[in-house]
Amino acid sequence: MTLRQECLWEKLTPERPKANALSGALKVDVCVIGAGITGLSAALHLLEQGKSVCVLEAHETGQGGSGRNVGLVNAGIWIAPDEVESGLGQAVGSKLVTTMGAAPALVFSLIDKYAIDCQARREGTLHMAHNARGVADLQSRCGQWQRRGAPVEMLTGAVCHEATGTQRIAAALLDRRAGTLNPMAYTSGLANAVTKLGGKLFHHSAVTRLERQGSTWCVITERGAVNAEQVVIASNAYTEGEWTELRRNFFPGFYYQVASAPLGGEAAARILPGGQGAWDTRQVLSSIRRDAAGRLLLGSLGSGTNKPAWFLRAWADRIQQHYFPELGAVDWESTWTGTIAFTPDHLMRLFEPAPGLVAVTGYNGRGVTTGSVVGKAFADYLVSGDAQALPMPLQPMQNVTAAGLRSCLYEAGFSLYHAGQCLRVVI
Ligand SMILES: Cc1cc2nc3c(=O)[nH]c(=O)nc-3n(C[C@H](O)[C@H](O)[C@H](O)COP(=O)(O)OP(=O)(O)OC[C@H]3O[C@@H](n4cnc5c(N)ncnc54)[C@H](O)[C@@H]3O)c2cc1C
Repeated sequence: MTLRQECLWEKLTPERPKANALSGALKVDVCVIGAGITGLSAALHLLEQGKSVCVLEAHETGQGGSGRNVGLVNAGIWIAPDEVESGLGQAVGSKLVTTMGAAPALVFSLIDKYAIDCQARREGTLHMAHNARGVADLQSRCGQWQRRGAPVEMLTGAVCHEATGTQRIAAALLDRRAGTLNPMAYTSGLANAVTKLGGKLFHHSAVTRLERQGSTWCVITERGAVNAEQVVIASNAYTEGEWTELRRNFFPGFYYQVASAPLGGEAAARILPGGQGAWDTRQVLSSIRRDAAGRLLLGSLGSGTNKPAWFLRAWADRIQQHYFPELGAVDWESTWTGTIAFTPDHLMRLFEPAPGLVAVTGYNGRGVTTGSVVGKAFADYLVSGDAQALPMPLQPMQNVTAAGLRSCLYEAGFSLYHAGQCLRVVI
């Protein structure tokens, strides 16, 4: 079977929102740039508070990271809670930890409130220890979250083997706050809710200029212009054009996925039988999940677009045979890649470069929950003017030094590691 370059989530979400390109002039309270989870969550929460809103999207809804990610609805950020608090200070750190710990609940409440049909599963996530150091790290994380009252637990021995479906994992951290979804369907559902509440969504409307005009903003596209009191820049890792400094505040990295054909049979049913999404503690991690049709989805850091199909198949075979040897040969159907906005310290950045203009980047690969939270927080901040609404303080924009070099080094490191996996030098 040929391995198609195709995002599975697009295929599984045939009814995606349709919208025209902006043409002519429009006046709204708030203009949102980017129809991903952040921009759409901002738009939705602004509309709920009575603001008039338009969303300008360079391509189509969800075509950035939001529609092509793994679909893990993670609780917390990458960094363990104690480290967040010691790094940012108790007050700022504990607010971020608490907000992001509760973030899956916000995602699931939006899904319920707007009846978003997106294969949402709320059985949690499994962070799987691949070696003794991984076990120690997860035990420490587990203790830190438990001290904060979070419903997390370590699974070991037979319970762990049963939950993960693999004998290769000795311990896993089950986080019951979290879950999985089809990210394109979630993003499309947010967009549908925006238009239902009267928001105006425009596709194929890339912003090319942003100008201050007296006390308002003029957001300019090829064929139109929006006059708005306030602007949310939610273009994140996919920022196009030179109209904003945002793209210099992160360095891009990539993540690819490979999805099998739907798998039946007993061996397949034993993989993650509880419906959790999983990833391992390797530094170049592998993510593992299944979709509603029983496909097996494997993913890892790095770009799949610069790798031949045979290499991606060999990599997927290697990971599958390591974790799930009893499956036998698997047909790999599709592969796709997305861009992630990384920051050197793995923390997001919130900006207000001018009055009435807010921007964000640097989710470091955790944007389903973070984007939903930040979008809501931006809406609350723009309406109330109270910076306490934000999950962390605003910062001045600051270019990431040697961003291009960092991206190249990351990509080279990931590719080398994957080649080592295929050659059975490492796993
Ligand atoms: C492959 C992959 C796997 C991931 N897995 C997970 C996961 O399992 N869980 C998780 O929480 N996070 C994950 N992430 C991260 C997550 O997907 C992102 O952080 C999140 O989607 C970012 O959402 P966003 O709305 O901020 O930006 P995006 O979804 O990237 O949206 C930005 C939008 O802005 C538009 N845009 C750009 N420039 C302009 C312009 N000039 N004018 C108008 N529009 C413009 C783009 O076209 C794009 O649609 C993953 C990311 C990738 C790439």
